[in-house]
Amino acid sequence: MIPGFECAPWELRWRGLAVDNLHRTESTFALSNGHIGLRGSLDEGEPVGLPGTYLNGFYEAHDLPYAEAGYGYPEAGQTIVNVTDGKIIRLLIDDEPLDMRYGKAHSHQRTLDFRTGVLTRETEWESPTGALVRLRSQRLVSFTQRAVAAIRYEVEPVDRPLQLVVQSDLLANEPIVSESRDPRVAAALRDPLVAEFQHGEGERAVLVHRTRKSELRMAAGMDHEITSPDNLRSGLTVETDLARLTAAVDVGLGERLCVTKYLGYGWSGQRSAPALRAQVEAALAGARQTGWAGLLAEQRRFLDDFWDVADVEIDGDPELQQALRFALFHIVQAGVRGENRAIPGKGLTGPGYDGHAFWDTETFVLPVLTYTVPAAARDALRWRHSTLPKARERAHVLGKKGAAFPWRSINGAECSAYWPAGTAAFHVSADIADAVSRYVAATEDGDFDRNEGTELLVETARLWMSLGHYDPHDGFRIDGVTGPDEYTAVVDNNIYTNVMAQKNLTEAVAACERNPDSAERLGVDADELAAWRHAAEEMCVPFDNLLGVHPQSEGFTSHEPWDFAGTPEDNYPLMLNYPYFDLYRKQVVKQADLVLALHLRGDLFTLEQKAADFAYYEARTIRDSSLSAATQAVVAAECGHLDLAFDYLAETALIDLQDLHENVRNGLHMASLAGAWLALVAGFGGMRDHHGELTFAPRLPSALSRASFRMCWRGSRICVEIERDTASYRLVSGDPVRSAHHGEPVEIGPEPVSMAIPPVPEFPIPSPPPGREPRRK
Ligand code: BGC
Repeated sequence: MIPGFECAPWELRWRGLAVDNLHRTESTFALSNGHIGLRGSLDEGEPVGLPGTYLNGFYEAHDLPYAEAGYGYPEAGQTIVNVTDGKIIRLLIDDEPLDMRYGKAHSHQRTLDFRTGVLTRETEWESPTGALVRLRSQRLVSFTQRAVAAIRYEVEPVDRPLQLVVQSDLLANEPIVSESRDPRVAAALRDPLVAEFQHGEGERAVLVHRTRKSELRMAAGMDHEITSPDNLRSGLTVETDLARLTAAVDVGLGERLCVTKYLGYGWSGQRSAPALRAQVEAALAGARQTGWAGLLAEQRRFLDDFWDVADVEIDGDPELQQALRFALFHIVQAGVRGENRAIPGKGLTGPGYDGHAFWDTETFVLPVLTYTVPAAARDALRWRHSTLPKARERAHVLGKKGAAFPWRSINGAECSAYWPAGTAAFHVSADIADAVSRYVAATEDGDFDRNEGTELLVETARLWMSLGHYDPHDGFRIDGVTGPDEYTAVVDNNIYTNVMAQKNLTEAVAACERNPDSAERLGVDADELAAWRHAAEEMCVPFDNLLGVHPQSEGFTSHEPWDFAGTPEDNYPLMLNYPYFDLYRKQVVKQADLVLALHLRGDLFTLEQKAADFAYYEARTIRDSSLSAATQAVVAAECGHLDLAFDYLAETALIDLQDLHENVRNGLHMASLAGAWLALVAGFGGMRDHHGELTFAPRLPSALSRASFRMCWRGSRICVEIERDTASYRLVSGDPVRSAHHGEPVEIGPEPVSMAIPPVPEFPIPSPPPGREPRRK
């Protein structure tokens, strides 16, 4: 049997062990609530691809080396730390350790259930000496108790009584091997944790550690409930980096050993070791009070509510149906209990990108959360807000006003050592502003709007005023910046940046007008408002009259074309095989850039312009970034290229399940997974939110006979169902919602309203560069 995931609508199952694939399955089976992340490693700790236990925001600092340093280069990097591993439960069977590389697995499967939020492992294993056991473990990271994870571990003999010894560990400074030469892969950190305190009593232990350089402190605690035959003997040992509960018992046929392990985690940059110890002991006490059955029930209730507002259904492609729910499940895991921390590019599923958060969050992940779990979007934006002092400082160092948010970071300080695609990618500040406006329009959260929202909009608007300048010919220009396409850097008038900055400026004006007290507190006066308005009106948006398309940035359409025919398939991603100087001076697009502007600022472009621009960039976009396919899906669908859009939807949705970028071992691609929802909802649903209005323009690709999705808007939940010739809109709960269907007003109430779908616009179907067609394995 070829190892792989089985197709099922509500779960992800992998049958068999496939040691070579453990790296992969550990990422896809990772559990998280946005605060704690546990990779899906096997209970017994080995064999393992990459273990991994992460706490959101917990990192180690390190120097950033430069061959030639320059003014304003960030000096310190940050790397997410693999913290104390509490997943490990080892088993000895009649003196033989359970290690699946030895003996014989009669059956073995792991299942992640999207409705219960539980990862289940079921194994029947025969030791090399012929002892046969049935093992079942269930693991969860609680959505309702954010500091808590729990494991239920059950073993029973199959054909004769056995002596079983279980060792349940908390292990700090687990050895980790980093194997890649890809510069994006996290730098491995050896022994990052220094022991500060350890304590054990009964079946409970706590270890407190701190990092060497970043001076963050963390505590991990475990507690147990054991049911077994009554000859059980147990003992607890505690060392600096290891706490272990050992339980030995003779188990007869028909009997069972059942261990429930509760884990509590906490970290802080300020709290003392005793305070952190108390925090995790309290978390453990809460978990025990709720109990295993209670945690399962809470998890289920939480997810029932999530699927009630967020589910997507498609008829015609079961594999994609599973991938869409998998994607949504991981997005909710990444964001829901982050509570004022970042949502990293990989969530908490692996060490990729050093655990950094990028613009990926605001542009791809937050739209999904805004329309499904808005409080999680708010919390992620509050994290940005909490980093404003660092962003102001960064702007100051760069000689600019307002706030310059980092390209990549864990704690809010810039960590990118490559300035052309880091510092110069100022669009991240406009992306944050865009997410703020979207969240405020979708929720009417006045409190956030008056406080964090307006301040974020004002400080980012100030950045644009100091980055841009007026030119007598072109209006307000923003020169020397890098847009989303990292293969074209430090350019003038990148249209994406300009039109997003334009929106940032107008939204900042609107926020100050809505919230005059906030504006006054922030020192915004009428002159400053007038200046923002004027810059927005005069924003330069270049056009190539000869070709009839928008140049991604000034001069782009005059650059030499990239020689796609002469580029072997193995040379992708290009950045690992060609020098940046050559990429920069040729027409080759790493990821949707101008096309992303066509989506997010679709209000500025006519359909004909979109079709012409899409075709032009389609032929030059190679998707070396996983952030691209979703946007291409959305704009392809709008331009009537529905089957092409479908292929891009499949690519973005299957990126991790099929390991299309061959790096899922380092963690999942959150932006791409969020992109699956965007491709469906904004692509085939045609959902747009320009100017605070929610509109739809649904159409189905030929591969699907029906699609439906749910979302929330200003406290109401709605459901949109798309069939070949009609779409229907229905209110699930809350007040009726005013919307539009292909430009026609529609009021969404409890009775479904069915509307006819107009004919598909006809534009010539564009093609991607040869060899770069959308992929699905
Ligand atoms: C992309 C960026 C993205 C980063 C993290 C890069 O390859 O070009 O746009 O922010 O990955 O996902």
